[in-house]
Amino acid sequence: MQTVEYYSPNYNKKERSKKSIKMIVIHYTGMQSERESLNRLCNVKSKVSCHYLINKNGKIFRLVRDKNTAWHAGKSCWSKYRNLNECSIGIELVNKGHQFGYTSFTQKQILQLIILCKILIKKYKIPINNIIGHSDIAPTRKIDPGEKFPWKILSKHKIGIWFNLNPKLLKKFRKKKIEKKQDKIKFFRYLNKVGYCTSLRTNNFVHNKILKAFQRHYRKDLINGLLDQECLIIASNLAKKT
Ligand SMILES: [Zn+2]
Repeated sequence: MQTVEYYSPNYNKKERSKKSIKMIVIHYTGMQSERESLNRLCNVKSKVSCHYLINKNGKIFRLVRDKNTAWHAGKSCWSKYRNLNECSIGIELVNKGHQFGYTSFTQKQILQLIILCKILIKKYKIPINNIIGHSDIAPTRKIDPGEKFPWKILSKHKIGIWFNLNPKLLKKFRKKKIEKKQDKIKFFRYLNKVGYCTSLRTNNFVHNKILKAFQRHYRKDLINGLLDQECLIIASNLAKKT
């Protein structure tokens, strides 16, 4: 794999061990241009960075070495992990994002991402369910990489998990209300199993954000933050895969 070497000073100077790397977090840059994104990620004042950035032509820039902790995740949580910079590799995809004109990711971008992820998964023995989006680990603050990110395609390459349910059948349960409190409890239990950090004790605002993150990832054509039977069935299927 060819990478273009760049240098970002935004990482912890203390090196980490190979076995501390347990996750891959996908982002979009959310800025007007590739140049602007690279400048920001390499500017000491911004205090943000990532390990890799993939531009629209599929060119991969390496900004921080894997053995260094890059600053891409911020306050975050997944499974038993907290503040995921320490245990993750951060990959940015060039995309203007929701604020400046969200577009589909390019084929070249996704192809290179798949190649990169495969190398990282093998090298660090990253579990399949630990390849996730920024919004999954920080649902109250972040919405990247967003609903145009092709998780289903990636899962076919064993990058991230996906459900196996008949889409037509599934759609019949869309917007069907969850009546029983027990089912709501079940839903959040399934989400926990998948990796989302949630508990029934968190308030409605947080629940709504977590639900949206879940939908953005697994049911991209209806992101309303409302729990329905379709979401429950998807979550139940995913929980079996972890
Ligand atoms: Zn991000």
